[in-house]
Amino acid sequence: MKVRCFLEKYGNDAALILSYLLDTNKNNLYLYPEKELSKEIENELIKILKKIQKGYPLQYAIGKWNFYGLDLYVDKRALIPRFETEILVEEILKEPFKKEKILDIGCGSGAISLALAKKLEKSRIIGCDISKDALELSNLNKSKLKLNNVEFIYSDLFSNIDEKFDLIVSNPPYINKDDYENLEEKLYYEPKNALYGGEDGLYFYRQIISKAKYFLNKNGKIYLEIGYNQKNPLIQLLKDEGYKNIKAIKDYNDFDRILSS
Ligand code: GLN
Repeated sequence: MKVRCFLEKYGNDAALILSYLLDTNKNNLYLYPEKELSKEIENELIKILKKIQKGYPLQYAIGKWNFYGLDLYVDKRALIPRFETEILVEEILKEPFKKEKILDIGCGSGAISLALAKKLEKSRIIGCDISKDALELSNLNKSKLKLNNVEFIYSDLFSNIDEKFDLIVSNPPYINKDDYENLEEKLYYEPKNALYGGEDGLYFYRQIISKAKYFLNKNGKIYLEIGYNQKNPLIQLLKDEGYKNIKAIKDYNDFDRILSS
């Protein structure tokens, strides 16, 4: 079948899926509408479309997703990298502070660590996670991208960390009990231990914020992704723990999304 017929028949999702399958840019597809697709690609695409029609997340069905310009493998071993998290990376890169040693707590697929490793070639980055599944995936992404300035290690928060950093970054699980019980269906395909942040959603922040100061160099910074309603309690928590110069940053939907200090 020709690309053009395919897109007419299956619509916009098909274009995105096809661009991943063919390893090309979505716009390129429209440049060669008469290109003939192999039967193999056609079958693969139909298989993926069937899965997403049943509510399976598009990103898992494709098995790859772009994060901050990096093509990452994604699957149910870890959270799907979100567009909002790119803002976290962008903010860190934009601000002029020392970033020689970086710790990413709860690295999941490795998205944040790898995006920073790619841009900060001279930095050394450690990504840690309690999930062995996530560590398999982050290591796979590391080899795919051939980035050697990043290391993924097993650690329950700081349990295996014994050095200090210029930056500690984290996008911990932060959905509270009520929100988790009323989750959009497709989020249930993602690991609960990457989403659920305890009764009030703040469990992991309490742990991270109270301990991070012992793992930061002088003038070290902390960057946290946060949920839409968590800014005030988290600013209070940071203040109570002695953190200074706290800054809140919004996402493109005008939700408070990042705290730095
Ligand atoms: N941003 C995710 C969501 O609500 C939550 C990710 C997380 O818990 N860190 O879809």
